[in-house]
Amino acid sequence: MPAVDLLAGLREIVGDTHVVTDPDSVAPYAQDWTRRWHGKPLAVVRPATVAQVSAVVRACAAAGVPLVPQGGNTGLVGAGVPQDGEVVLSMARLDSVGPLDPLGRTLMAGAGATLAQAQRAARSAGLDVGLDFSARDTATVGGIAATNAGGERVMRHGVARFRIRGLEAVLADGSVVRRMSGVSKDNTGYDLVQLLIGSEGTLGVITAVQLDLIRPHKIVGTALVAVRSVDDALTVLHAVQHDFTGIEAAEFFHHDGLQLVLEHERLARPFDRPHPLYLLFDLADDDGRPDAFEELTELLAGLDCVRDVCLVATAADRRRLWELRELQTEAVSAEGIPVKLDVALPLNQLSLFERRLAEVVREVARHAVPILFGHIAEGNVHVNLLNAVEEDADGAVTEAVLDLVASLGGSISAEHGIGLANRRWLPLTRSSADMSAMRAIKQALDPEGILSPGRMLPEPSRPAHKDPSRPNHSEPSRPANSEPHRPAPAKTGRKTQNEAGHQVQKSASSRSRSSR
Ligand SMILES: Cc1cc2nc3c(=O)[nH]c(=O)nc-3n(C[C@H](O)[C@H](O)[C@H](O)COP(=O)(O)OP(=O)(O)OC[C@H]3O[C@@H](n4cnc5c(N)ncnc54)[C@H](O)[C@@H]3O)c2cc1C
Repeated sequence: MPAVDLLAGLREIVGDTHVVTDPDSVAPYAQDWTRRWHGKPLAVVRPATVAQVSAVVRACAAAGVPLVPQGGNTGLVGAGVPQDGEVVLSMARLDSVGPLDPLGRTLMAGAGATLAQAQRAARSAGLDVGLDFSARDTATVGGIAATNAGGERVMRHGVARFRIRGLEAVLADGSVVRRMSGVSKDNTGYDLVQLLIGSEGTLGVITAVQLDLIRPHKIVGTALVAVRSVDDALTVLHAVQHDFTGIEAAEFFHHDGLQLVLEHERLARPFDRPHPLYLLFDLADDDGRPDAFEELTELLAGLDCVRDVCLVATAADRRRLWELRELQTEAVSAEGIPVKLDVALPLNQLSLFERRLAEVVREVARHAVPILFGHIAEGNVHVNLLNAVEEDADGAVTEAVLDLVASLGGSISAEHGIGLANRRWLPLTRSSADMSAMRAIKQALDPEGILSPGRMLPEPSRPAHKDPSRPNHSEPSRPANSEPHRPAPAKTGRKTQNEAGHQVQKSASSRSRSSR
């Protein structure tokens, strides 16, 4: 079918104004948040109902034109941006939130609702989603399900698949599967909900999600602890976990990352003098100890490896400390385009990984500047390498780091997924039996390869790990320090516009962690 016929058919389904082809309006959907991945889509289509999603998928399948679902476009592995000629299926208009069932503790949300919208709805009923990260105002629940997102509260409440009880999705043939009964025990056949979670848009288009809510604990205090090394940070965390049961989140960052945040965001430094590494954690009142704050102060003061502590209780002070961690991604991005990796190590290998990383990176990218931060309780390190994009044009830098991760028994993608960025390296930690099983699932559910082709699974005919080919849109779009792409218009509220045209809200309320 010629493209004009397909576009006419799509306009009939969703209405003229929701089939977008004008280059300026398409631009924010065509490049990812990191500015490394971009393509030229045939069109951006914005359905408003599951019936429209199904009809769009059928129309694209009949025309043999692949499509890529897109939520907030905050994904960091290039999976949600179009390859040339694909249709972007924007889920933004499926943004309903509710109903909420307080007894069963579930919340329905359309795939295009943002995490922040779902959090607000849950909190208004005294409950919470149990998921949180700094892209909350833009990332959608559909994208979160499709990437099995993690974030800051995983150590307590698990990754997205633990927080999702059911979902609705359109499959590649346009059929709709709906598993949203709300029952928490259901052993009837293959678990399609869990199969679709983390499938990065390759097996189905998620149209609605049933979130499994938690009952939140009050936060007693937030601590920023200055230490010398990642081993010392783990020693502190272990000591606190030994004495208290309610650690809600535990993060780490280094001095150089803090420095970038202070410079780019003009924030006050937390301590008089710099320290090599910082541990940040929230303590909740699980134990019901009235003097928990004082007891924590005493515990931290008694630990030899603690160089300095900032322990706060008010919502404003806690938010101030969390900004130092949450703004690291944006501060790195403001500095340049990094080689961005997201790995996990067994905790007992974390320190060795940090030491060896500097060596292996230096060998392939002499001027690279590593900025490391992440979710320490899961050994999850966000590796950002500034001044290394050119050296990584053929994947040499990525390969060096991921080889190291695999050799230490880690995961080459802890929470961001595989997408386009990591697919060459999937066989580093997945056996050929694994790969064959995954390909068989893809083939069974999407035999024509209509949904997000080329993402996640490397081309079967090539030895993927050593495959030197790169899709034409996958090259770095420009040297690290060049002018970034200009953003799209803001939606609401006071927002910083990131370079992919999507916004990350900066208002105090959007960043408030006081209700956590
Ligand atoms: C500042 C910042 C901080 C971040 N912090 C974290 C973090 O702490 N933890 C973490 O896990 N991630 C983090 N991310 C990554 C990102 O926010 C998550 O991956 C998020 O889940 C993506 O949601 P989205 O709606 O933006 O999805 P998109 O970027 O639009 O899409 C991501 C993937 O999901 C697919 N997809 C999207 N919607 C659907 C749908 N309805 N049906 C089927 N497939 C779909 C896309 O095709 C693509 O493969 C961060 C990103 C930024 C920019």
